[in-house]
Amino acid sequence: MMNDGSRQHRLRIRRAVLALLGTAAIAASAAGCQSSDGARGTAHAGGSATAPSGSATAPSRSSTSAPAGTPGGAGSAAVRPAPDPARRPTYAISATVEPAGGSVDGQLTVHVPQGVGGDQLRFRVLANADGYGGNFHLSGTTVDGKQVEPQLTGSVLTLDRPADKATTVEMRFRYTMQKGKNSGGTLGLPSSKSSTSMVTQLLARFDTGLSMGHWYPALIDGHALARPVLPKEGDLGASPAGDVTAHITVPNGYSVISGGVNTKTSTKSGQTTYTQEGHGIRELSLVVSNQLVATQQRVGNVTVRVWSTKADGAAAKRVSGYVTRGMAIFSKDFGSYPWSELNVVEAPMPAGVGGMEWQGMFWVGPDMFTGEIAGLSGIADLVGMNLQSTGEFTVVHELAHQWWQGIVGVDQTGTGVVDEPLAQYSACLYFHDVHPAEANDVCASGITMSYQMMRTMAEPDGVADRPTYDFTNDYAYAGIVYGKAPGFYDAVTKVIGNDRLLAGLHRLVADHAFGMVTGRDVVTALQAAAPDHAREIATLWTRWMDQDHGDQDIDLNSGPLGNIGTMMRDNPDLAKLLRVLLGI
Ligand SMILES: [Zn+2]
Repeated sequence: MMNDGSRQHRLRIRRAVLALLGTAAIAASAAGCQSSDGARGTAHAGGSATAPSGSATAPSRSSTSAPAGTPGGAGSAAVRPAPDPARRPTYAISATVEPAGGSVDGQLTVHVPQGVGGDQLRFRVLANADGYGGNFHLSGTTVDGKQVEPQLTGSVLTLDRPADKATTVEMRFRYTMQKGKNSGGTLGLPSSKSSTSMVTQLLARFDTGLSMGHWYPALIDGHALARPVLPKEGDLGASPAGDVTAHITVPNGYSVISGGVNTKTSTKSGQTTYTQEGHGIRELSLVVSNQLVATQQRVGNVTVRVWSTKADGAAAKRVSGYVTRGMAIFSKDFGSYPWSELNVVEAPMPAGVGGMEWQGMFWVGPDMFTGEIAGLSGIADLVGMNLQSTGEFTVVHELAHQWWQGIVGVDQTGTGVVDEPLAQYSACLYFHDVHPAEANDVCASGITMSYQMMRTMAEPDGVADRPTYDFTNDYAYAGIVYGKAPGFYDAVTKVIGNDRLLAGLHRLVADHAFGMVTGRDVVTALQAAAPDHAREIATLWTRWMDQDHGDQDIDLNSGPLGNIGTMMRDNPDLAKLLRVLLGI
């Protein structure tokens, strides 16, 4: 999930609010506040071809998505599959989706191999979480053919497993998606006291289509922390890599966009059924729309398709350029992109979220996608924002998640400290490669400023490597996980050099492709690349991820916020006043 870019918007907009309140003026006079981070983004028009308008799903291809572990050919090194396909769960889904009313009626069969999923099988069922309409219906639940009574509590379905052996689960589910708020986007000003989970609106219907993230019951990794109540911060992904075949039936004229590959299309009685297949993916999320058109490019053997509204076609070409350049860089640095297609979709986002990753697909919020926020260019100029750079940063952050949470999985509620800081660090790698002159400014703006802003809000530093449930507000989560934690990789680079750091990350991908990792695996992979610095790497992980040295390790006085962070840290009463004024 990309909270940070959009959070930067919110934080900077909040900074504008501060200015309006006069508080910033006080701060400036007291502490010499600087202004403008000087980020200068450059728009790039990719040489992309535009797919036929309104074309449904993938143009026909001779091959299905590459089996896990087969190099996509975009990079130089193969990704070794682990675990092997025989140890991956398989999903067979048939679902009818009615876009007008948002109804979903599905039949699901999951084959869970021995040793996968744990003694009890748990499935994430977002549609049954609080705030999703309360109309989720489950029926016909069987385990190995025997009818069972499912335990469905909040967003977690639990089924007893007869024994640790291969198990087949079947169920039927239906629900109606709620209408999302198109205005969510990045303008959700103060939400720190809101009880809304960040994942709201990942499963919702909008004017431009249906966003169907976490839309069917997905097996949760046996070691993952999974609570029925949604965490307020962060995403929910915690599924082992699996193989999915889904038959999705929609009215004629609608596209079904997913992280898989369309292998068959059939039409009957005004309805079209698309067969989507994804291999080595954790979840097959969907966007169903009759409004989006695709811009298509090839990167090596990978087809990159960017879906946008017709009005945002120019932005789609820019985004396509970001993605194709980023894919070449990340494939070289981390290992080949393993799937044959990637769909990038302009989609409404929850308030305060800039983008959302799936496997073989990611979504980008309209303002990050276009690099514009309607009616706000004046404020953007006032606070020194460069929306195009922020949008580019968001796009490549989401792209990087194809490696960090896609190929290499994590439990996002338990170990979010692995994938988000790596996605942040990777976005910076991209900028140093593609826009070296502005990389330092953009990275400071996209990363460390979240920490500085958190301290300006008088939020204390804290441990990064902890469950997302433990973060109680947006500022702390953004500041510590997105703002501070990526600094670990810079600190390690200073010790072992960039080449060995990348070799370590490449090794992490090679050793754990299609598996799940924790922070310990990250440390082990980096140590393997630089055994002479093994102890320092472990010490740095502890310092950045398990302790609270942010104020020593991050210069609170650098960047556009000037000395405000230091001033707030040293003047608790002033910080308290500021929080009251801002309703935090
Ligand atoms: Zn992210």
